Amino acid sequence: MKTILVTGGAGYIGSHTVKRLIEQDFSVVVADNLVYGHKEALPQNTPLEIVDLDDRGGLKALFAKYTFDAVIHFAAYAYVGESVQDPAKYYRNNVIGTLNLLDAMLEADVKEIVFSSTCATYGEPQYTPIDEAHPQNPINAYGAGKLMIERVFADYKRAYDLRYIALRYFNAAGATADATIGASHDPETRLIPLVLRAAQSDKPVQIFGDEYDTADGTCVRDYIHIDDLADAHILALKAIDQYNGALNLGTGIGVSVREIINVAQKVVGKKIMFEIAKPRAGDPAKLVAANAKAREILGWSPSRSDIETIIASTWNWEKSRRF
Ligand code: UDP
Repeated sequence: MKTILVTGGAGYIGSHTVKRLIEQDFSVVVADNLVYGHKEALPQNTPLEIVDLDDRGGLKALFAKYTFDAVIHFAAYAYVGESVQDPAKYYRNNVIGTLNLLDAMLEADVKEIVFSSTCATYGEPQYTPIDEAHPQNPINAYGAGKLMIERVFADYKRAYDLRYIALRYFNAAGATADATIGASHDPETRLIPLVLRAAQSDKPVQIFGDEYDTADGTCVRDYIHIDDLADAHILALKAIDQYNGALNLGTGIGVSVREIINVAQKVVGKKIMFEIAKPRAGDPAKLVAANAKAREILGWSPSRSDIETIIASTWNWEKSRRF
């Protein structure tokens, strides 16, 4: 049985991946500083080590306590807007934190890492769908930090034989079918939870701009169910001996803000109020993934990412949230 260290395992995507790893008989240890993570998101009896990535001694002790076969590294701050206001927080935690983790890994001779990267490493798209060869010119510190780490991995592979797969997520969304875990962000900034909260209140959701160069004028994104993301991480652990590099994780299908509201109205069975607001700074009109490479290399194909399934699962979670 392989033992996997999951950093940030109490977070949104991390906790879904932990659940699936355990279902597939991996032994799992979670490391999380619980700044944004939730203990309640972990299956009962999952070993949890509360450690911060700036704590080099704590990381060393963690790798001395357990023998890991590989690491899945989710731990990161992930508010794009905040990364523009306070880039130091992002470079320190996300970049230096990852360097600290890599030091501890290499010292313990752990050489496999699957990493949460992001479509924010591409910046303003020059074409869509965006493939992995698309130029990477991130426009915020969050994306820039993730790109730096991708570069670190490539250099560490050459120098130290580190094996890595960087998974560039498009828009992670949804909750488990049984609604036991889902997104719990404070503050919540993402579209689908906010649309569903508008459905439960008398406050409208804001559409950030309706004059983009898209079919209905609102921004288009590629929403991918977190259970599909979780599966990709496990497949990446299995593919890491054959492939090292980056892979996009998206559906290849673009959905506009207005379409999200329309589908949500059907799922919820009532009208959802919205108002048109100013475009949000730094929002590209359209981000859609080319996912052929992940399909080919991982044998992965998204099966829960049609937008109805994503919204219905989020709705079930929002109605019965435990944390
Ligand atoms: N959006 C919106 N209103 C909101 C939140 C988001 O219109 O209250 C739009 C946002 O401009 C983007 C899309 O919804 O085009 C998805 O935004 P989200 O923050 O969920 O993810 P992002 O694409 O920024 O990672």
